[in-house]
Amino acid sequence: MSTVIAEPTTAAAGQAFVPVPDEILVGGRWRRGGGPESAVLDPATGDVLQRVGQATADDVDAAARAGAAAAADPAWRDLLPHQRARHLVRIADAIEAGAARLALLQTYNTGKTLAETTALVASAAGTFRYFAAALETGDDELTSRRGNSLTMSVHEPIGVIGAIAPWNSPVASDAQKIAPALAAGNAVVLKPAEWTPLVSLALGRLIDESGLPKGLLSVLPGRGSVLGEAIVTHPGVGKVTFTGGTATGRRIAHHGAERLIPVSLELGGKSPTIVLDDADVDVAVNGVLYGIFSSTGQSCVAGSRLFVDRKIYREFVDTLARKASQLRVGPGLDPRTQVGPMVHPAHRDSVAAYVDLARAEGGRVLCGGAIPDEDRLRGGAYYPPTVIEGLGNDARACQEEIFGPVLVALPFDGEEDLVAMANDSVYGLAAGIWTGDYRRAWPLARRLAAGTVWVNTYKQFSISTPFGGVKESGLGVEKGRAGIAAYSRQKSVYLGLDTQPHPWAD
Ligand code: NAP
Repeated sequence: MSTVIAEPTTAAAGQAFVPVPDEILVGGRWRRGGGPESAVLDPATGDVLQRVGQATADDVDAAARAGAAAAADPAWRDLLPHQRARHLVRIADAIEAGAARLALLQTYNTGKTLAETTALVASAAGTFRYFAAALETGDDELTSRRGNSLTMSVHEPIGVIGAIAPWNSPVASDAQKIAPALAAGNAVVLKPAEWTPLVSLALGRLIDESGLPKGLLSVLPGRGSVLGEAIVTHPGVGKVTFTGGTATGRRIAHHGAERLIPVSLELGGKSPTIVLDDADVDVAVNGVLYGIFSSTGQSCVAGSRLFVDRKIYREFVDTLARKASQLRVGPGLDPRTQVGPMVHPAHRDSVAAYVDLARAEGGRVLCGGAIPDEDRLRGGAYYPPTVIEGLGNDARACQEEIFGPVLVALPFDGEEDLVAMANDSVYGLAAGIWTGDYRRAWPLARRLAAGTVWVNTYKQFSISTPFGGVKESGLGVEKGRAGIAAYSRQKSVYLGLDTQPHPWAD
């Protein structure tokens, strides 16, 4: 089956790439990064969009010091929750006002479709509004008295938060870290991924211009092994919030343990998506396709392992592969595109290598499986939706996170067989169940080792709903009202009510 490719388009007016100023935000000052330059690519064409001077370890030091000073400044420290919330609302307004530019930048830099990046920008603004509301309505606690004192538990900021983000959804992951961290009264030193610094720099500028006190936010693009390490090990950084791969997360957790600072980790996944024999096939096919192939499979929660009841396996998987081969592959700027390019040619090559490995392990490729050779896509980091079957659950393609548009399909026989295979993974981020009977879904959802289970839907997110992984998919949760507490320290205060001297000292 051949892959359908979207027709060529030229960038419409208003869609041309406009570079961001080549400046990074260090402790309230914009200046050119003094580190090596990185070439930021348009993955749809392979062209260099612009070059960005990376930050240096000295910039991390300056940012952490300025952050600590700004967080301790009474102008920020003494703001009441509703006053701090106003800053978050202003940031949300600024994001909405700059939404078209942010979405376009993210499409250029990550390859995602404009529809997706527009939704991600809206969600970033919503994240700031949500945490503004959560801040205004969150209460400290009066705890039960066990003696003659009034006892309270109050939340206080940690100080400087090191925030390290991956390349797949920068604007949304940046917001999910910056908003609750500021809401809790902290300063933030943000490091975007080396491949995708543009939208984070543009977001930093919007936040800076919204009137947030200087020094509370720094945006430091650079390589993880240099700059990320400098942030995680800086003595002024009091917590690290990280989203990215499990190997990096483990390394950051080691540093956190050395320094005895809290670390929250949103890591990788290899999520099972399960089709029971009573599922509505049309609904399930489209849901499975969306769950794996939207964002070109570059989603931590991508439903990349498909388990189908053997009774309906053949028909289901053949239908799915046929529809997958008809998904429109093309540039993210083309409104007809469903599957954009991968973020970078190097990442596309790693995905292609996994498919070769799956073939070598005995897998049958039902659709996709080769870098497209159409003229118009040449130069871009494209890889088509690919469905593979015939592998054992222990094959590397079934166990390792490929992070691309590759789905492995396996039949199952009964619930015990299914649960054993679905849970046979080092990961535990998400899972999907497609069924006509919620009474079957409920006990199954409870048996799956996953932080999130979707039933008859997939990749739906709500900022009000906590999100996190189990096993090697993470530590801690983001989102939800408790999201602010994750950036706070709890302090207990006892107000003694005795009016007489303590008898012990007499
Ligand atoms: P990654 O290689 O782990 O990188 C993530 C971030 O960490 C990047 O900013 C990277 O910088 C930085 N980094 C790399 N080495 C570092 C080090 N030694 N110390 C500190 N920082 C370091 O992951 P990725 O390839 O960008 O992202 C894909 C992964 O993220 C996938 O595994 C995906 O599942 C996961 N993810 C998880 C979630 C979730 O919520 N659970 C969401 C999205 C993505 P450079 O890139 O500049 O080197």
